[in-house]
Amino acid sequence: MKKVLSVFIVLVSVTFANAQDQLKPPKETAIDRFLRYAKIDTQSQDDQPTTPSTRKQLNLANLLARELKRLGAENVRVSEFGIVYAMLPANIPDNSKVPVVGFLAHMDTSPAVSGANVNPIIHRNYQGGDIVLPKDPTQIISVMKNPILKDMIGDDIITADGTTLLGSDDKSGIAAIITMLDTLIQNPQIKHGTVAMAFTPDEEVGTGIDKFDIKGFGAQVAYTVDGEALGEISNETWSARTATVTFKGKSTHPGDAKGIMVNAMYALADYLSRFPHDMLPETTEGRVGFVHPYSGVADVEESTLKVLLRDFEVAGLDAKEKVLSDMVQATQAKFPDVKISIDVKEDYKNMKEVLKNYPELTENAMEAARRAGLKPTIKAVRGGTDGSNLTVRGLPTPDIFTGGQNFHGKLEFNSRRGLEKTTETLINLVRIFAEKAK
Ligand SMILES: [Zn+2]
Repeated sequence: MKKVLSVFIVLVSVTFANAQDQLKPPKETAIDRFLRYAKIDTQSQDDQPTTPSTRKQLNLANLLARELKRLGAENVRVSEFGIVYAMLPANIPDNSKVPVVGFLAHMDTSPAVSGANVNPIIHRNYQGGDIVLPKDPTQIISVMKNPILKDMIGDDIITADGTTLLGSDDKSGIAAIITMLDTLIQNPQIKHGTVAMAFTPDEEVGTGIDKFDIKGFGAQVAYTVDGEALGEISNETWSARTATVTFKGKSTHPGDAKGIMVNAMYALADYLSRFPHDMLPETTEGRVGFVHPYSGVADVEESTLKVLLRDFEVAGLDAKEKVLSDMVQATQAKFPDVKISIDVKEDYKNMKEVLKNYPELTENAMEAARRAGLKPTIKAVRGGTDGSNLTVRGLPTPDIFTGGQNFHGKLEFNSRRGLEKTTETLINLVRIFAEKAK
């Protein structure tokens, strides 16, 4: 009897706690939105003269614009570059002290793996063990390589079918932002300042954000919603450069090539063989940077090699550039007839240099995650985000998790809880900015 009574008391208190914060559900759940967006092919393409790099990204841009209008967002527009902008006005009378908070997610998916005919699969009520993707049984999301699965028992896990990527990067971010908007409109009791939203093309090829209209967006601070595991917040990214090494030889008919032909490919091969083994993406982790030869053309007349340079510190980046130049000298000495040149360009800078002056951005995001029942952590991104670019240009923009894992590959996944907790965190975040302004 006593036991029954105590259970009864617990039930009553739980019901009461929920009643205080009983939200009307959004018109569509984050997972349903995500599944719709994931099926739209938005793969971007490297080295294109236009933004967006692929016309198909506009299919999603136009669809999002229609949805935003239908939900009640204002100033919805798709720019000539395919960037979708929208805003939700503040619902508190004196919002002058609340900063306009912006949220961004990118529409494109990685050029690395096909994003055509994505067939998202929901593994309902996951009970542990490896997940074999049905259309290609060699594609296995193993517990050994993905220990996070151990924390996902009972969750509904979303994967692709083994033939494509899933596109959780970053359609999860889009689904969470739009479901936040949907929830805020359904629940005017949630007090918030002006919220700006934007969905960008060509994040994966690094070019879309250059066309971003910060002034027109209207936010004073912003977040990209483009991270990974629940709770991970990033205020630090790589500083990044790309090197192009060109090897010029001399082509001639192989029948009478003796003494004339200079085959540039051998110089390329020599150069590749000089990459220091302990300075590669496959041998480094944490805060250690790398050099990464990632694509090239092997040809008699002219061979080229593209190399990524990544480090959290500018000095580290300079040192890596020196390594690549020294390698050019060494190969040049061995192949005097091949003309070798190296050209290095700046891609983006570590956003920490600016964000250290805006500690409240990180603190508020951590508090928002905590209120969603998550354990927030700070993670330095071994990559770049559109936020690095925006931060340098004057709009401080750290990055928030999406719950997604294994970006840019066929083993990409997210889950119902991942999407829901991300959405909840964003709602908490706009609330916190309004609360703190009081
Ligand atoms: Zn992304």
